[in-house]
Amino acid sequence: MTEIPKDHPRYESLLAREKVVAGVKMGFTSIQGLIAQGRGESFDYLIGERSTESALYAERAAVAALLLAKNPVISVNGNVAALAPEKVVSLADITGAKIEVNLFHRTETRVHLIIEQLKANGASEVLGKNPDASLELSHARRMVESKGIYTADVVLVPLEDGDRCEKLVEMGKTVITIDLNPLSRTSRTATISIVDNLTRALDNMVRLAGGMKQERKEELVKLITTYDNKKVLSEAISEIQEHLKAIAAEMEY
Ligand code: ATP
Ligand code: MG
Repeated sequence: MTEIPKDHPRYESLLAREKVVAGVKMGFTSIQGLIAQGRGESFDYLIGERSTESALYAERAAVAALLLAKNPVISVNGNVAALAPEKVVSLADITGAKIEVNLFHRTETRVHLIIEQLKANGASEVLGKNPDASLELSHARRMVESKGIYTADVVLVPLEDGDRCEKLVEMGKTVITIDLNPLSRTSRTATISIVDNLTRALDNMVRLAGGMKQERKEELVKLITTYDNKKVLSEAISEIQEHLKAIAAEMEY
């Protein structure tokens, strides 16, 4: 991996880029994953490379949903495995969620390598190798495990494609997405859309979960029943507008 100097003003972003490149070189991230990362970076610039208020609100609701779930599952793809395997394992541990590998560009080698990567980062069990159930989709993302995504009541699907997100919602599941693009089909169809960078979102969620685990169940239920995803998406877009307006104003002086 190319060494990025720690004092570089965009250290976090460049480090993430190197991690996705390393994932491709090691064979578990697809080459298309590079394009997805680039698209994410550009939205992060517009957002201001920070967790906005609406993102933190969605992250709180997402943690509440995971903590209250009977069978929560975190779905992992090649980009997620490259960027934040240790954070996925921490979030799964603290919320009691299962982890399942699910890939659009699926090969058995890639599934195996991602499972190994998660295990090297502390995961005890990772599903996805033996899909025995099928979602009504025409691509490889249909292949799921019956004790995992297929029967999950709450699924966290970071960097999801719109198709499967829609299908999971149709099946009656609570679908949480992490996607920097508030306009993507994924963001627009999810139950809880977190418009934030994967690494920031997972850090926030692990931190929030630590405190929220001690909260009364009724408090968590209230968070979910009062949660309004349309408002969150609208605010995410407004926060981008405000951020750009502030920069434009600065440039005038
Ligand atoms: P859709 O099918 O939902 O309309 P898409 O086809 O553009 O969206 P994909 O390529 O399937 O989306 O998924 C990648 C999505 O993840 C993009 O919207 C991109 O902005 C986002 N993304 C990429 N990297 C990150 C990251 N590190 N953190 C958060 N989001 C990211
Ligand atoms: Mg897509």
